[in-house]
Amino acid sequence: MNVFSRPSPEARGLGMTGQRARDRLIARLKEEGIADRRVLEVLARLPRHLFIEEALASRAYEDTALPIGQGQTISQPWVVARMTEALIEEKIPDKVLEIGTGSGYQAAVLAALCGNVYTVERIEELLRDARRRFRKLGIGNIRSKHDDGRIGWPEFAPYDAIMLTAAGESVDAALFAQLASDGVLVAPVGPAGAQRLLRYRRDGEQWKAQMLGHVSFVPLLGGVA
Ligand code: SAH
Repeated sequence: MNVFSRPSPEARGLGMTGQRARDRLIARLKEEGIADRRVLEVLARLPRHLFIEEALASRAYEDTALPIGQGQTISQPWVVARMTEALIEEKIPDKVLEIGTGSGYQAAVLAALCGNVYTVERIEELLRDARRRFRKLGIGNIRSKHDDGRIGWPEFAPYDAIMLTAAGESVDAALFAQLASDGVLVAPVGPAGAQRLLRYRRDGEQWKAQMLGHVSFVPLLGGVA
């Protein structure tokens, strides 16, 4: 048999980026308390290895954050799953705003579940790579912008849901102003080493936060790069 005609391990679903590696990750996420089948299905299907450098592809289906360049990271799959669950728990939002595109992975997860995703990134080079990935994967319902996401994206407001994937000391009022009245906002909040994942929902005239757990995100920074 000609060795060149044999299907590659990846093509047979084996190897570090194949279906088996992905299924192992999904089993682990379930063990760690992720229960929403819609979220688990999207994570099983989406090729996370295409959102990181090739040199790290073999680690793509480990439940760990990985560097994506420019001092930034793609979030740990468990964190992506938990934040997505928290965002869609009551209803699937039609219009979602994400602050901190990074690799584009979280935006792609949201795009598989929600109607339209708007995402803002302050580092141009990361945004360029993320856009290339959206095109390659044929994802057509993500709009992205190079800007300081702390001011949101007023042009398309109101959003049914907003997700921050970088941690500030607090959530800017500008973001709440762009949230629909029955909307939900999920964000890591607090200083390095003491961040909490919060979900805000309206309670009468106020936005009330619910603590979802402890997390470790890169900081929300001002300006663009
Ligand atoms: N959601 C990303 C996570 C990337 S890490 C993913 O799935 O890969 C967080 C990202 O937030 C980084 O890329 C960082 O550059 C970006 N960021 C930090 N402060 C920001 C701001 N004020 N506006 C927009 N993006 C910001």
